[in-house]
Amino acid sequence: MIRPTRAHIDLAALQANFRAIVDYLHGDPLAAGGTSRPPGVIAVVKANAYGHGSARVGLALEAAGATMLACADIEEGVSLRQAGVRCEILVFGALSVSDLAGVFEAGLTPTVSSPSAGRALQAAAAARGVRLRCHLKIDTGMNRLGFRHDNLPRTLPPLLDSPNLEIVGVYTHLATADDPEDDLFGEQRLRFERALDVVTALGGRPHLRHAANSAALLRDSRLWYDLVRPGLLLYGLVPPPLAATLPLVPVLSLTSRIVAVKGVRAGERVGYGGRFRPDAPAKIAVVPAGYADGLDARLEGRGHVLVRGRRVPIVGSVCMDMLTIDVTGLPVEPGDEVVVLGAQGDGTLQRIDAREMAAAIGTIPYEILCRIGSRIERVYDGSPP
Ligand SMILES: *Cc1c(COP(=O)(O)O)cnc(C)c1O
Repeated sequence: MIRPTRAHIDLAALQANFRAIVDYLHGDPLAAGGTSRPPGVIAVVKANAYGHGSARVGLALEAAGATMLACADIEEGVSLRQAGVRCEILVFGALSVSDLAGVFEAGLTPTVSSPSAGRALQAAAAARGVRLRCHLKIDTGMNRLGFRHDNLPRTLPPLLDSPNLEIVGVYTHLATADDPEDDLFGEQRLRFERALDVVTALGGRPHLRHAANSAALLRDSRLWYDLVRPGLLLYGLVPPPLAATLPLVPVLSLTSRIVAVKGVRAGERVGYGGRFRPDAPAKIAVVPAGYADGLDARLEGRGHVLVRGRRVPIVGSVCMDMLTIDVTGLPVEPGDEVVVLGAQGDGTLQRIDAREMAAAIGTIPYEILCRIGSRIERVYDGSPP
């Protein structure tokens, strides 16, 4: 028997989102600092493709025309290669405590984000007698990974002189792209521009400049440069609080089935802690999905699901393997479909997306998607790669 709680991944929707992004990038001829060539797309598939499954998603995005894929670490890059991905794979993460062999064996493009990472990669490439393509990461104000933007004349020359490293790309990451009120966004762009000039003055010849995550891609075409790096947009969601300016469809839906229905009397208590206590007779349905499946305990009393085309509240404690919903007044039975994320209904479709669920519990849609548990089977439809 197959568990009734499943994630459906619509690969056709994923590829349509990719094309919607490409169309958007082709729509502004003044982008990328006046050059009229639209940027390429680095499709971000880190963290198991935001919970969607990196093997199928990576292949589908490669087939859709992604210039490059990007992942968090060497292990993720190796599994993309094992899945059969052939295009360039950029590794975002720091490599200082990693075994670098996978970079060479799987043909990955690492990020150099510190002088010591540069030295380690140079030594590893020299030992193998190869020249390794790398991207250089500049820290323009996020203060996480990267060479400090204001220190490059001191830190960069040894990297640029490394005979076995070819710095083909330079990038930065934006800390506040999703906050239109925050000045750091503009400041980071100016610092990146200056850093690019310094890299060139020091003799660097990187031809791939990139900075834009999903939010920056939507907000400012001056950040498009040669490549953009969307993640969330590919999966059909716009980073809050930004509004949707391109036609996207959420790729993942999460569905289950009601496994039990029960009447409770007025004043009776439901679930751990007995916190749900209806003051009139009520009908409760049990859904076999809980916090072990990534459904946050804070959804109690805050979240909704769809049953028979209606929104119904999650009531009582979210348990490890199940949750309870209030279906009072609805003709529901065991076996009825429950939509936790996605659309349901004939005629006017009701929809709950990860953005709504995140807002209900005070987190971000990224976390909702990435936390969908490993116990949940991913079922793929749409174009098989
Ligand atoms: C995750 C990530 C992205 C994609 O971010 P989204 O907000 O999902 O578009 C881009 N660049 C880097 C360096 C990242 O780590």
